Order: sequence, then structure tokens, then C-alpha cells
Amino acid sequence: MDWNQFRQWGKRFVDWGADYRENLRDRPVRAQTKPGEIIAQLPDTPPEQGEDMEAIFADFEEKMMPGITHWQHPRFFAYFPANAAPASVLAEMLVNSIAAQCMLWQTSPAATEVETKVLDWLRQAIGLPSGFTGVIQDSASSATLAAVLTMRERALNWQGNTKGLAAHKQLRIYCSDQVHTSIDRAIWVAGIGEENLVRIPHKGKLRGMDVDALKKAIAEDRAAGFIPAGIIACVGGTSVGSTDNIADVIAVAKAEDLYTHIDAAWAGAAMICPEFRHFWTGIEGADSIVFNPHKWLGAQFDCSAHFVADPDALVSTLAIKPEYLKTHGTDGIINYSEWSVPLGRRFRALKIWFLLRAYGLQGLRQMIRNHVDWSQQLFDKLSAHPDFEMITEPMLSLFSFRYAPKGVDDLDALNLKLITNINNDGRIYLTQTKIEGQFVIRFQCGSFDMEQRDMEFAYDVITQMAAQL
Ligand SMILES: *Cc1c(COP(=O)(O)O)cnc(C)c1O
Repeated sequence: MDWNQFRQWGKRFVDWGADYRENLRDRPVRAQTKPGEIIAQLPDTPPEQGEDMEAIFADFEEKMMPGITHWQHPRFFAYFPANAAPASVLAEMLVNSIAAQCMLWQTSPAATEVETKVLDWLRQAIGLPSGFTGVIQDSASSATLAAVLTMRERALNWQGNTKGLAAHKQLRIYCSDQVHTSIDRAIWVAGIGEENLVRIPHKGKLRGMDVDALKKAIAEDRAAGFIPAGIIACVGGTSVGSTDNIADVIAVAKAEDLYTHIDAAWAGAAMICPEFRHFWTGIEGADSIVFNPHKWLGAQFDCSAHFVADPDALVSTLAIKPEYLKTHGTDGIINYSEWSVPLGRRFRALKIWFLLRAYGLQGLRQMIRNHVDWSQQLFDKLSAHPDFEMITEPMLSLFSFRYAPKGVDDLDALNLKLITNINNDGRIYLTQTKIEGQFVIRFQCGSFDMEQRDMEFAYDVITQMAAQL
């Protein structure tokens, strides 16, 4: 491919992308293919000769597109959003063309310096005090792993990396029973072991961890000879938005000298609206906080914002400096690869810069406020329907419910059937969760392009398809 062809194809792809995004409502949200259907259409051996772009692109449209679940669909109400605002997609096009590997300051000073600046913009946007410093991680899972490794090294007097874990007493880390699986995996990978992730039962309306039980668990562990290392708290859990009482958890952590990491991967975006900050009152006392601009806010995946109160602790845990990575004569600069597990880094800050400038905080706040209002409206409408049982109230834009007409015994089976039918139908997309052993349907709205009419449409689809069961 020469650069003229690149130019022509690039223009065609931009048009394709605009048409695709503009007309998403016409497509089923979830891919409707069967397992193996896509792979069966692909040749068994790689091409020996270069092929014509026309043929490659035609195959893409015909063979790949049916197997895509449309995450940018305005009626995507499953999981959490992975919004890619148009301005952030355009920024990624520039990044793709430049294709710089931004591991060190000198391997692209702009990437480092824009990252420093836009993470500070984000810090201000979500109302964190100036003592926090941000870095972009590829995902919340990576940020949590970095935080767990920091907890580990801090608790082991910075000797875990050198001496290994066998040389020390067993570490313990605490969280609620509502946290995301990325916490489990961070604990496994850090060598701490699942059995040493102490799950504190939840309590109260927001399903946050029972702080008295937390204190008791720490005291018992100390008496038994364990080393408590840290606490992971959650704001807006994935299942139904469970939220710990951050101020209370941090008070325990401070009294016990434990490191705290706050997982606000989804809900953190809502903190650009001051009226939602009560969900994380006390956050200024945290050691580490993660939120994903790649979820609700609209910075195309992947883009996770990780804020730490003491960058030195993170860097002491993760920095490694062989000769070939030294940047002689440039003291005082930041090499962000020392702040994360992977060495290589994309220029991810650019899409945040485009996003914030193109929509402004006011525009993004309006989007989040709409979603929260519309979610409450749908909750109220379903509550008023005699055959629906509301299970958890909206946490921001997430709630759960189930279809519970009178006289049906097996509501789990009925709701599984309902959600299967809805997703096979394709006009909207929902996912499920389990609460106290019950199968329930989750609803979250947060698509960048959604409108109020999409919520009304969702109500109609849910109630109609339930009536057809
Ligand atoms: C989505 C989510 C994660 C994982 O985020 P990744 O960026 O995909 O690793 C972790 N915690 C919570 C609460 C989430 O919602």
C-alpha cells in the first residue's frame, strides 16, 4: 500500500465510521451469531500473496461485522458503557498514524507532558485535592494490580520484589464481598493468594462493607500473626453499584496504617458532577483511586485514570532501570513506564485532551445528569407496573429488577427466559446478575449517543416481551 492508497482508504473508513455510528439504531445491539460461525468463514492458512484492499474490506463488512456487538449503540444497557465519543475516536486516528511508543519522556515528550496536564484536569474535574497525582493505566485491572503491588511492598518494607514473599509472614488485604473480579486477579498475580483476600460482608442500603466487621477481621489477623497490608474499597460496584462508606473505611485504614485503593472504575466519571460526590465522601484520604474515562466519560478504550497520593510509593514498587532505559542528563522528568506494569505506552492522553476540549465539562456533566435522570424515570415506570419487582434502587444510572407476575414459582427461570428473548430480539441489550442467590436483570443507561426516547423504547420492549412469555 502506498500513501496515496492510504489516503483514499482512510477517507473511505472515516465515511464508513460516520455512517456506522449514525445508523446504529438499525442494528441488533448484541451480535446474533452462533459460536464458531465467524471462524468457519476464515481460510485455514495465511495468504502468501498480498491481497487487494477492496477484497479485504468486503470480507470485513460481510464476515466480521455480523459478529460485532455494538457497544456504541444508543440502546446498549448491558454491563457498563465503553463510550467512544466522536472527538476521542478522531484523536485515536492521529495517535494511530503517529504510532509512537511513549514509554519514556524522551520517546515522545508531548505524550508525557500532555498526560501530566490532562490527568491534572481530570483530578480537578472530579474534585480531588491537589495532593493527588495521576497516571494513565491501560485498564482499571492494571491500576488495581499496581495498587496491590504497592500495598504489598509498603507492608514488606520494600523487600517483596527482592526477597520474594516466602521470606515474610503472610499478607492480608481486605475488601467487601461486592468487589470486581479484577481485585481477585490482582491478589493472585501479586502472589498474595485468594485465601488472604478477606471479604467483609456488606451491610445497609448501599451494600458497603460492614466497618465493625472490618475492624474485627484486622484485629484477629494481627493476633494470628498475619500482616494486614491494605484495604480495597469500591464506589459503584459492577453488579448493582455497591458503594463502601469511604470515610469510615479510610478512618480504619489510617488507624491501622493500611494502604487504601478505591475502585471507582465506572462511577468515578459521575464525580464531575458535584452533586454525586457524596457517594465518595472522605475520598481525599485515599492512597490510590482508579476511574475509567473509557467507560462512561467517552474516552475511547483503553484509558484508565489512576490517582495516587504518593507517587514515590508506586514508583518504588514498579520502577526498573536497566542501562538501555536510562535517560541521561534529563533529571526531573517523568518516565510514566515507571508507574505501571507494562513498559510500552500508547499516547492515550491525546483522546482525553480532545474529549475535554470538544465537549467541555459542562457538556459531559449534562450527559451524565441525563442518564441518571432517565434511569430514575425508567425505574419509576417499572415500579408502577404490577408485574415487575424492583430489586435495587438506582445507584447513579444502574438499577436491578425482575419480572415477577403473580402465581409463578420459578422466577429465576422466567427471568432467564426474558433476558434471553430480549437479547435475541436485539433491539436493546441487557445483562443479569445474582443478588442473595436470586437471578435479576441489571439495567444501566450510559451510551454517549442515547436519547430519552431510547429509554422509552426500552420500557416498551421490556414490558412487551415480558407479556409474551
Ligand atoms: C469495569 C470495572 C473494572 C474493570 O475495568 P477494566 O478497565 O476493564 O479493567 C473494575 N472495577 C469495576 C467496579 C468496574 O466497573
